[in-house]
Amino acid sequence: MAEEAGEAVAGGTVLVRRRALGDVVLLGAITAAVPPPVTVVTEAPYVPLVRRLRGVDRALAWGTSRPGGRVIDLQRDLKTLRAFPRARRLRKHSVARRLRLWGWGRGRPAVGELYARAAGVVGVPPPWLRLPEAKRAALALIPGASTPLKAPALGLLLEVGRQWDGPVVILGGPGDAPRVDALAADLLAVRSSPAVAIAEAGFEATLEALPQIRVAVGGDTGLMHLAAASGARTVWLAGPTHPDDGFLRWDSGVVIERALPCRPCTLHRGTSCRLGDRRCMELELEPLLRAVEGAGALGAADR
Ligand code: SF4
Repeated sequence: MAEEAGEAVAGGTVLVRRRALGDVVLLGAITAAVPPPVTVVTEAPYVPLVRRLRGVDRALAWGTSRPGGRVIDLQRDLKTLRAFPRARRLRKHSVARRLRLWGWGRGRPAVGELYARAAGVVGVPPPWLRLPEAKRAALALIPGASTPLKAPALGLLLEVGRQWDGPVVILGGPGDAPRVDALAADLLAVRSSPAVAIAEAGFEATLEALPQIRVAVGGDTGLMHLAAASGARTVWLAGPTHPDDGFLRWDSGVVIERALPCRPCTLHRGTSCRLGDRRCMELELEPLLRAVEGAGALGAADR
């Protein structure tokens, strides 16, 4: 039966990952490694992004069709179980994650590694996005996050932006517009040139900006994964996200964090800090500036 790992079948490989920007972007770890042709099924807003991933031949909006081929379900929820009952599936490591949340065990492997295991291939590191070549001189600041717990302090980002000797881009989704605009206004007061502020529902302007980004700084958010996928160096402000939960380990970025015993305090969507002060995001400026400086120099040397 043509379901062995790495064996091509008629219809090629179908990767199913419906939602969560960061998890969708992390498909790039395997899209160029699985047998072609490669089809990805994802929620409609992510289709333009997925089409840019190396190795992807087709990107289909969830619910529009059920392509044939060797289907690998990397979402593994009720909807994908029903839609693709015979698919190979991701092992979620839910128990390991829950135990880590309670302070036991070593968490789970990196998400890209889990995708690679499900597909039976060896994953590849970024860059994963097919983008035009451009001079990478810009700093990207990413002030938003999927929950307020994960959002970095604007003051830290402001200081990084103030000290960056080059263009600055501020990236966010539509819900991040107030933080994007506030940071842009604060930067205008301390820099001679204004930052480019992008807070959009789709990804058109973001994709245009990505080839110019040398270093991206932000919390655990999908746009950081997107910046990493584009080849930018990343400096992650980890906050309540712990590297043991597999989100920050795939690219070669630097993680700035506080080793608090309450971390990780949420798997994803927590909105309140049980200590009341979100001290995991009270990060020191000096290590952050050193990390950005190092990442910028590395990025320059690479290109
Ligand atoms: S300080 Fe601790 S409890 Fe509060 S948000 Fe951060 S990790 Fe969670």
